[in-house]
Amino acid sequence: MFKRILIANRGEIAMRVFRACREMDIEPVCVYSQADRDALHVQLAEQSYCIGPSRSAESYLNIEAILTVAKATGCDAVHPGYGFLSENADFADACAQAGLTFIGPSGDVIRAMGNKAAARELMQRAGVPVVPGSDGAVEDAQQALEIAESIGYPVLIKAAAGGGGRGMRKVFSPEELESLFEEARSEAVACFGDGEMYLEKLILHPRHIEFQILADREGHVIQLGERDCSIQRRNQKLLEESPSKALTPQLREQMGQAAVTAARAAGYENAGTIEFVLDQAGNFYFIEMNTRIQVEHPVTEMVTGLDLVREQIRIAAGLPLSVSQEDVVLRGHAIECRINAENPSRGFQPCPGRVGFLHLPGGCGVRVDSCLYPGCELPPYYDSLVAKVIVTGSTRLEAIRRMRRSLGELVIEGPETNTDLLHQILYHPDFVRGNYNTGFLDEHMETLLAWSGGEAEKA
Ligand code: ADP
Ligand code: ADP
Ligand code: MG
Repeated sequence: MFKRILIANRGEIAMRVFRACREMDIEPVCVYSQADRDALHVQLAEQSYCIGPSRSAESYLNIEAILTVAKATGCDAVHPGYGFLSENADFADACAQAGLTFIGPSGDVIRAMGNKAAARELMQRAGVPVVPGSDGAVEDAQQALEIAESIGYPVLIKAAAGGGGRGMRKVFSPEELESLFEEARSEAVACFGDGEMYLEKLILHPRHIEFQILADREGHVIQLGERDCSIQRRNQKLLEESPSKALTPQLREQMGQAAVTAARAAGYENAGTIEFVLDQAGNFYFIEMNTRIQVEHPVTEMVTGLDLVREQIRIAAGLPLSVSQEDVVLRGHAIECRINAENPSRGFQPCPGRVGFLHLPGGCGVRVDSCLYPGCELPPYYDSLVAKVIVTGSTRLEAIRRMRRSLGELVIEGPETNTDLLHQILYHPDFVRGNYNTGFLDEHMETLLAWSGGEAEKA
């Protein structure tokens, strides 16, 4: 097993990895930017090193600075968390070249899945259903027009290098295709430095259903059930739950098998996620593979009883999976709410600042993964996610009631957060019935915001 792991991240996920290391008797080494000098992961770590100025490009994305710290402190492995360098194939390669184990798949696998157009083609060849669309990349708006004509409108223009919901545009008619194509491409160039585009049919009112998979070096691949991540703002997840109300046991089995096939086709090792959209007729389609631990992984931890970061570390150290597919039992229901420092009524504008009084929920069946402490400063440079509240219940309704109770206890004085909005979602009759899709938030935003000001309809 590793002796010392460098945690190449910040915020709640740095704390998450830190905790796993401590429980495994591995020494965590933390890094931070100037803006994060007083961050929680820095305060709790015995070893932490500044890797540069506040801007991510000069610190958390600074491969050379991170590897210098890892080598100087005698680390044997690097955990990238999510975001930042976690899906950077060159970083994985650079770790390997420096004699450090990257806790994740190989650079080649990250590269292969990082191009979403190429990943689609690979999955199609492996017999995993993909959304009807272009075969590989689309050169220009003219070609996009031809393909859109053949698959039928509406279509979705997507960036091959896309992530975080960016570089995507819905197109409902040929007249608007050209301008939206150029818009999506400019956004892709600006966000990812890569203007390669592809096309998918736009699935109307789908659910986002993803499967957690684990794969070890000996070729064992297992799936840990699904997460329903259909509550999204701007194609970014806000609330996730497991199991999904939309799956029957048969569909769960089918999708789980498709996820395992997908992971095998990718030659995958470590923890990963296969994302699907599920249409209203019950057809599912692969959309992408995320080659890292995900924000919403605790939902799966709560229903399986497994520690996914621990599994990641074990796999990277060459150990076999600690469970077989038959050992995996999904128990009860789990929900996660992402607490973001942002203002939902102002287009989810980020709200950095200093936290005053702080009260985090607790009690039976409640878990909080956060980087908050009273008086902490939320810098403006990074993602607005500051905490995750995760609850379990023996039934979905019990979990919903527990989450309402927990969000009611949460007090973050200072920066604006999305807590009220999340709280109202948990009272919405469609959510309570489990009758929702990725359009839920857009459709009900006005109602939910109005409710946050007053009394919710108690369902
Ligand atoms: P996940 O796929 O893990 O559920 P998302 O799809 O919401 O998470 O986001 C994709 C990844 O991009 C996450 O790792 C998230 O932290 C990261 N991310 C999103 N926006 C930003 C940002 N502005 N800066 C840094 N990382 C970001
Ligand atoms: P990212 O890499 O930004 O996470 P994804 O390909 O995972 O991009 O898509 C993000 C979200 O966009 C999905 O969760 C889903 O809500 C929506 N989406 C993606 N592809 C389609 C599609 N073909 N039809 C309908 N919705 C889609
Ligand atoms: Mg995605």
